[in-house]
Amino acid sequence: MARLASSSLGLALLALLVASASASAAAEAHYVLSLDVDYDAGTYEGTLTVTWENPASEPIQEVFFRLYPNAATLYAGASVEILDARVGDTPVDTALYVDDTVLWVPLPQPLSPAQTASVTLAFRGRASLRLDAPPPVTHEYGILTKTPYALVLTSFYPLLAPYLAEGWALDPVGGIGDALFSEASSYEVTLRVDRRPTPIASGFLVDAAQDGDAVVYRFLADHARDFSLVLVSDGRVPHGTSVDGLSVRVWFGPGHTTAANRALEQARAAVALDRDLIGPLPYDEIDIVEVPLQHIGGVELTGLILLSETYTVTPYDPFFDILVSHEVAHEWFYAAVGNDPVEAPWLDEGLATYLSNVFLAEIVSPTAAAAERDRWARSAALASSAHPEIPVTAPLYDFPDSTTYSALAYSGAAYELEGIRRLIGDEAFFAALSSYYRTSLFSIATPLDLRQSLEAACGCAIDGALFPGPEVP
Ligand SMILES: [Zn+2]
Repeated sequence: MARLASSSLGLALLALLVASASASAAAEAHYVLSLDVDYDAGTYEGTLTVTWENPASEPIQEVFFRLYPNAATLYAGASVEILDARVGDTPVDTALYVDDTVLWVPLPQPLSPAQTASVTLAFRGRASLRLDAPPPVTHEYGILTKTPYALVLTSFYPLLAPYLAEGWALDPVGGIGDALFSEASSYEVTLRVDRRPTPIASGFLVDAAQDGDAVVYRFLADHARDFSLVLVSDGRVPHGTSVDGLSVRVWFGPGHTTAANRALEQARAAVALDRDLIGPLPYDEIDIVEVPLQHIGGVELTGLILLSETYTVTPYDPFFDILVSHEVAHEWFYAAVGNDPVEAPWLDEGLATYLSNVFLAEIVSPTAAAAERDRWARSAALASSAHPEIPVTAPLYDFPDSTTYSALAYSGAAYELEGIRRLIGDEAFFAALSSYYRTSLFSIATPLDLRQSLEAACGCAIDGALFPGPEVP
């Protein structure tokens, strides 16, 4: 996410990790998702079957899903409810925890390590409505929202919670930052909706078939952290290009041709630059969609980027370059390489912020890039003087507000990465980013993974603000 707001709303929430046995590498989960969407109402019903392997080193008797729409903070006005739950063919009684954002599903029999189980959930949900009046003053971002001409559906279905070395990651959803945290998975999605809106989604469209007044679309997505979808009904058409077979498409509103062309030009350049610096992206498509967000400039999803209409009206402002290249960089560091957005939000936000500056320096203007780095230093210093107890590596729930969060986890972390680059040189620095990317691909990386890549690339010890604590043995 690119954060811009200066809201003071912030919640200090404790992370909740249900202690359990250590995690091990497991096969990716497979989601079969069937959706029926009422576009005008902004509601949906569906079923999903998740086939999933026990990643623990001992038998487990329960599994947890996240129901992000029920978070009154970032998703205010939206909701999702479970209508039926089965493990295999066996109906089970579920329970809700953590402000109804965690679904507990008991397993009828213990599941041994590396054994697979299938959980089928029937669910019904609704987007928040923003139809004619200005939105109420909430912290809702607009990421699960119906407007007169768009239905934005992100994190809208039950998502398997990540299982980490410490156990299930079940953090409360706070009022700032990103909540969506999931493992890379494969998706097979069937979407039924009336014929008017155009779907723009993660993964790629396999086929579409008319069925009475409806159209049934089928999508596939591999190694996806999420399946996200925007339906639009304003007649917009994509502007597209490709980079080494990766399709990049920009979907802006009718008449926004100048901004769409600029976004496409900058997204194409950012994809090529990040590919050269870090490595090829293992996806087929990136769709970039203009939607009415609030409090934020953009949101990263797998193969799908949302950009706020607030900023697409000024496509030649340097901030637009930063926004587009920041969100593009998240396809490498959020989607392909995951990390915990609550416990270590600086990891992907610092990298995406840093790569947006490399983009400015290489593609737009070295002077603008230097000015932006100066701005990082000033805003991080200001935040640190106001909150000396909060390091740039703090978990999300330690930040009192989004301004402090942005100044430290984005600007402060990026400023520290610049310091490391100056210390070890361009060659070692980018070799380390590339190594981190390749070794962490499709997994959930930690700050230690990045530190080890940096130390291996430079043959030196890296410590300081991003990596406090003893040297890696
Ligand atoms: Zn971001």
